[in-house]
Amino acid sequence: MTCAACVARVEKGLQRVPGVANVSVNLATETARVETKPGLALDSLVAAVKKSGYGAEPKDKEAIQRREDARAKTSSQLAMRFWVALALTTPLLIFTMHIPGVPHLSAWVQLALVTPVVVWAGGGFFTNAWKALRGRNADMNVLVAMGTGSAYLYSLVQTIQHGEHAKVYFEVAAAIITLILLGRWMESLAKRRTGDALRSLINLQPPSANRLNENGKEEEVSVEDIQPGERILIRPGERIPVDGQIIEGESAVDESLLTGESIPVDKEVGSKVYAGTINASGAFVMKATGVGEQTTLARIVNFVQQAQSSKAPIQQLADKVTAIFVPVVLMFAVVTFVAWFVFVTQFSLPDSLVHFVAVLIIACPCALGLATPTAVMVGLGRAAQLGILARDASALERMAVSKVVVLDKTGTVTIGRPEVQAVEVLNDKENQNDVLVNAASVEVNSEHPLAKAVVRAAQSSGVSLKPVMQFVAAPGKGVSAKVDGKTVLVGTETWLKQNQIPLDGIVRKAMDLQQKGQTVVWVTVEGQVTGLIAIADTIKPEASMAIERLKRLVNQVWLLTGDHETVARSVGNQIGINNVIASVLPEQKAAQVQSLQSEQGHVVMVGDGVNDAPALAVADVGVAMGAGADVAIETADITLIRGDLNSLPDSIELARATMKNIKQNLFFAFIYNTIGIPLAAIGLLSPIIASAAMALSSVSVVTNALRLRRFNPRR
Ligand code: ADP
Ligand code: MG
Repeated sequence: MTCAACVARVEKGLQRVPGVANVSVNLATETARVETKPGLALDSLVAAVKKSGYGAEPKDKEAIQRREDARAKTSSQLAMRFWVALALTTPLLIFTMHIPGVPHLSAWVQLALVTPVVVWAGGGFFTNAWKALRGRNADMNVLVAMGTGSAYLYSLVQTIQHGEHAKVYFEVAAAIITLILLGRWMESLAKRRTGDALRSLINLQPPSANRLNENGKEEEVSVEDIQPGERILIRPGERIPVDGQIIEGESAVDESLLTGESIPVDKEVGSKVYAGTINASGAFVMKATGVGEQTTLARIVNFVQQAQSSKAPIQQLADKVTAIFVPVVLMFAVVTFVAWFVFVTQFSLPDSLVHFVAVLIIACPCALGLATPTAVMVGLGRAAQLGILARDASALERMAVSKVVVLDKTGTVTIGRPEVQAVEVLNDKENQNDVLVNAASVEVNSEHPLAKAVVRAAQSSGVSLKPVMQFVAAPGKGVSAKVDGKTVLVGTETWLKQNQIPLDGIVRKAMDLQQKGQTVVWVTVEGQVTGLIAIADTIKPEASMAIERLKRLVNQVWLLTGDHETVARSVGNQIGINNVIASVLPEQKAAQVQSLQSEQGHVVMVGDGVNDAPALAVADVGVAMGAGADVAIETADITLIRGDLNSLPDSIELARATMKNIKQNLFFAFIYNTIGIPLAAIGLLSPIIASAAMALSSVSVVTNALRLRRFNPRR
């Protein structure tokens, strides 16, 4: 595919296949995303693409490699055709310029020079144009072929009729083809670099590894050959080839790829290690668990590739314009021709033809088709390098216009590993250990971070847990179960009130703790408070800085939490957030997000992705804060794999930079056409200049998109 019109054609072809719901074809990645009814055979899609005049194959790892190879081949073919065309066109131009003292080439010699340029170097334009016309479409190949073909044929007829002194336009055809080939070649070189970021991620995985066979003998094998369960020896300084678990030895591993943290993480027997990360000091033996497409790295790469082939909504405008552009231009060119032929030149065919050709050439919408997808591709690739995974281009587009950022407290603003700070008892009758044992015995069944803190505290104080029955979890409220036949309830103040449990005795104590930013979890037995557990989570060290940056980027930053208001305010104060919504249940979080949306516009909701799912879903952009490699990518619109709060302002800045880049590209793409077409029509633009401008527009669009590779957040 060479331009937006090709995209439209392939999309139309796929759309016609029965059972196809949604089609989106991407020029930069040369991929199609097709949503179909279940059971639709892939072959019928491939056939539909073939029928539109193109080719397709299912996307897999080899296909991607083959495409890369094919692109490299196209590049070198274009280069060869360009150089040959240039060598033949240069004398043609020099010796037809009527410079005093410079001899004029005979029309027959010109014909000999131009024919290989048109037939061989520019042959592709004609065959592709023919394919397009056969599919009842008109694209840029049609425009180029008509332009150069008419100049060539007219001159050929003249030469045959009038011999060596005929008035001919061979140099126009040759120059157009040469310049457009140059543009195509530059474009193909630049296009190959749009995938650099992703390629650098893929290359993090070493090509080979040292496998240990049954006898413990070492053998070097390629990563593709490693099977789950096999043992691999990793030496200091080596990259880890697949995901796995250490079974012998210990070391430190640089996981900055996944966590952004450059200090190596200590690893011992049982620790998980990930493909692409770097072993720092020790040597160890690992057992492969995730290989091939299963590694975290491969999943990230796949995710980014999918996103790169999605279409940004902003492109719909460009697509609509392109769909009507070519036919309109063809008509316009004919009108231009007729006007010049009949009214201006009084029936001079050659002069009218030149203007006709100029209009056709300058009108090519090829840069228009590249404007959005190349910027999206480079932007998303750069994002991945920065630990930002966007589901698709539209997520990025919505991120760019965000007005409000809502942050979940636990796990987002705090590191998400709360620790028990104190266990308070109601009165002397109660025993601290009893409170802890009761609470932990129930909490051991819960996945909540607070629950885990309680269980850890119980374990480290050496008490043993009791069996429980009838465990119930109330999301956002607490948990309950029967311990020793008595009902134990562990949870929030509000929940206690709902259960008609009086809060007496230690309310003051609770308030003191909450003012310090500690979460208070009440413990009750048989409807009586026996004590409380104060739990605190460390605020992420970068929180204040990240929030300051956010405040500069959006209108409002909110803290949203199910925790007590006092705790939320205290945390908010420490990090510079005054807008606090506290004591909300998970399902109310979504309603809060909706009300902010109606008041303020686009809302970005940032959460841990588990109990915040409804809020993430209603927000314009749901952002999941990952915790390194364990991150469940695919749950949110944007996943920040590094768990670093600064990634949030980073991603807004990147989204805005990408959108700005797209708009610049659309400007570059439109400006040449809009200025050029009228100029060409009134005869102020020669076909040769027109083809230079057209080549330049594609190259400038792709080069501009490549600037995004060097995007750096303003930290
Ligand atoms: P957040 O909005 O901070 O993620 P949640 O909605 O998960 O908080 O929970 C809100 C509040 O409910 C917590 O602050 C805690 O007091 C209480 N809670 C929830 N689950 C539990 C549990 N398993 N044990 C004790 N308290 C809980
Ligand atoms: Mg939460």
